[in-house]
Amino acid sequence: MATTALPRVRMAHLPTPVEPLPRLSAALGGVRLWIKRDDQTGLALGGNKTRKLEYLVAQAQADDARTLITRGAPQSNHCRQTAAAAARFGFDCMLVLRGSPPPQPNGNLLLDRLLGAELVWCGDRDPEMVLRETFDEAQTGGRRPYLIPYGGSSPTGALAYAEAIREFQGQGIEVDRIVFASSSGGTQAGMVAGSRAYRMAARIYAISVDQPAAQLQAQVATLAGEVAELIGGREAFDASAIEVDDRFLGGGYGVLSDREREAIGLFARMEGILLDPVYTGRAAAGLLELIRSREISPEERVLFWHTGGTPALFAYADLL
Ligand SMILES: *Cc1c(COP(=O)(O)O)cnc(C)c1O
Repeated sequence: MATTALPRVRMAHLPTPVEPLPRLSAALGGVRLWIKRDDQTGLALGGNKTRKLEYLVAQAQADDARTLITRGAPQSNHCRQTAAAAARFGFDCMLVLRGSPPPQPNGNLLLDRLLGAELVWCGDRDPEMVLRETFDEAQTGGRRPYLIPYGGSSPTGALAYAEAIREFQGQGIEVDRIVFASSSGGTQAGMVAGSRAYRMAARIYAISVDQPAAQLQAQVATLAGEVAELIGGREAFDASAIEVDDRFLGGGYGVLSDREREAIGLFARMEGILLDPVYTGRAAAGLLELIRSREISPEERVLFWHTGGTPALFAYADLL
């Protein structure tokens, strides 16, 4: 399989560590758990978007852009990492954020400002529309904008997670299943395409954070096909073979329940590992349930892929 020739900047601290979770494993009855620390990708408190941004920023450079523009929720990790990448490589950054500014910026939003991003608030307007308007105005104004898609989940961004699969393979730990949080689908699509391209047998098992399974499966299948094309394959992916578990959506995106609270507390107190309230907390809650219900058998070797997000903890004072 040919390595991709797409341009890439280097900013992530790679490979991210893979570690066993001995105390948590014992507390759960002796399952075999490891964690991959993509919360430690190194860019302004890390997370999975840093990998994607290595390809997206390189594309922006190749296009001779001067301003990175993207959108997200006020506590978007993607927006914070985009702002940091912009600072690191000398771009201006404009972030289109859903809703209205809170009285006190905290968590990721505080960092967006610290990192020098210009914030555009949508109020009750449709974020995708505001994004397009912001982009057009920046273009007319001569700011040479580069549009980074929602979640960084274009084929170019998602490609980074095909490469991450290869990185994990090189770390010499074999697992039967990889469990992680999936939202815009780029992480999952990259993993799915990477598993096929680099022949990794582990199940790619996503816990959906905000979308019904059928919807996310279709999205991931399409995107995985596009990623495969970028790495030199011509592969079709069947949506029904994409594994998405949507039983843990609870009250919806970013709505914390006792399930996430318990999972976040357990990882903190058993392993000293910080999860986040929106993504990894939900994925870990799903993981716990799968283990307790024996859907994950005690013999199974499982990797929990930590995708970051910890700064959002500071925006959830009601966590405890
Ligand atoms: C964005 C994000 C995800 C989801 O990744 P997608 O590629 O959008 O599916 C998971 N965890 C964290 C912490 C994130 O910020």
